Amino acid sequence: MSVIRSGLNPSQHTASYYAATANNSKNRPTLRGEHRADVCVIGGGYTGLSAALHLADKGYSVILLEAEKIAWGASGRNGGHVGTGQRKDQEELEKLVGKERAKLLWNYSLEAVNTVEELIRKHSIDCDLKRGNLHVASKSSHSDGLRGEVDHMQDHYGYDQLRFIEKSELDAMVGSKQYHSGLLDNGSLHLHPLNYAQGLADAAENAGVTLYENSRVESYDQGKPTTIKTTEGTVTADFLVLGCNGYLGNLENKMAGKIMPINNFVLATEPLGAKLAQELIRDDVSMSDSLFVINYWKLSADNRLIFGGGENYTSNFPSDLKQFVRKYMLRVYPQLADTQIDYAWGGTLAITLNRMPHFGRLQANQFYAQGYSGHGVPTATMAGKLLAEVVSGTAERFDVMANVPTIGFPGGTLLRWPGLVAGMLYYGLLDKL
Ligand SMILES: Cc1cc2nc3c(=O)[nH]c(=O)nc-3n(C[C@H](O)[C@H](O)[C@H](O)COP(=O)(O)OP(=O)(O)OC[C@H]3O[C@@H](n4cnc5c(N)ncnc54)[C@H](O)[C@@H]3O)c2cc1C
Repeated sequence: MSVIRSGLNPSQHTASYYAATANNSKNRPTLRGEHRADVCVIGGGYTGLSAALHLADKGYSVILLEAEKIAWGASGRNGGHVGTGQRKDQEELEKLVGKERAKLLWNYSLEAVNTVEELIRKHSIDCDLKRGNLHVASKSSHSDGLRGEVDHMQDHYGYDQLRFIEKSELDAMVGSKQYHSGLLDNGSLHLHPLNYAQGLADAAENAGVTLYENSRVESYDQGKPTTIKTTEGTVTADFLVLGCNGYLGNLENKMAGKIMPINNFVLATEPLGAKLAQELIRDDVSMSDSLFVINYWKLSADNRLIFGGGENYTSNFPSDLKQFVRKYMLRVYPQLADTQIDYAWGGTLAITLNRMPHFGRLQANQFYAQGYSGHGVPTATMAGKLLAEVVSGTAERFDVMANVPTIGFPGGTLLRWPGLVAGMLYYGLLDKL
């Protein structure tokens, strides 16, 4: 079903397969006049929606302000993969924060995936939820790492959902001969990201949250309570929660230097039919490869291939997005050369230098979470839960995340781009070797 617009709110979702198959086309009002709430949440993606929902469940009155439409940002446009673990693998995390903390972070990641699943079940969110991710080795040198991960996760974390897949078995699972081995994770999920976000928004409203769209926050003060201003209204709130991620812009420079907004792109083919779809992904799991600029793909409910590939680091998207992503898809599936591409779109996400999310406080009553580095479907959902905990006075778990070391991008907000672009292009080049 296409998203239908009314005159109430001029913002639109990007023209994606997800928007074309959205469960609803609700518009929410613009904030006008003066309002009061216990908590004001900025940003209507998973971070903001999950925070708002968890806060309302704890009895807080919550106003959420979204500059465009609910889930207009990355939460309505992403690949829909809900992976276990943090964005960094466990052995690297152990080096970064020590074994004990790494174990906590692993447990949070499992809780994040479980929280997504529980919210979907509890609120009957219709979002094509399915199980399993198959991560494939693009280079033979990556296979040892995948094999080692199975043993490491079993021996040190008791995690038994991983299975190493030899090439002899893999080819039939992927419909592509170019991969060397695979790692199947039965603990991961995948879903329709926009419908998941819309379901969270409905659940938040049912719990008493007031959602405003087309209500861009322009400023807020340092007061207790804090006054938050949009062009047409104000909210005065005891607590402020920021969930703007890749779309933060210049709203808060103290947070901006820790993240870099980058663009990533996705296409959806025409429906392939059940037979071809099964040849490409035999078990209907989500797929990802081991390149630095990762390719990721899965099937939609109507058997389209939803394929994500390619990034850029400027404020513009490539002019022909269908062709841009198609070339990545054809490297994996040359047999789709004659397949029509029905949709292609892009979105902006925030990455951090060490790929771990960045949680923190601006002051005693102002909190934020951002920088999920491409792992935000579970992690931003979990962030919302932890933001609700810290607002309600239980800081322990939020602080585990806030204490993960994060490094500012060299050059801060002004000069971070040249360094990042050079680095990303370098690693992108390594992918080609
Ligand atoms: C193409 C793509 C593919 C991805 N694939 C995956 C994947 O498969 N799995 C995965 O785990 N992650 C993936 N991600 C990352 C994931 O989508 C994000 O990490 C996650 O959605 C972040 O949620 P969020 O709520 O923090 O931010 P967003 O969903 O981006 O929401 C931020 C919101 O804040 C609003 N906002 C900004 N400034 C203001 C303001 N001043 N006032 C009011 N509102 C404001 C924006 O309009 C926006 O709606 C992908 C991202 C992209 C772009």
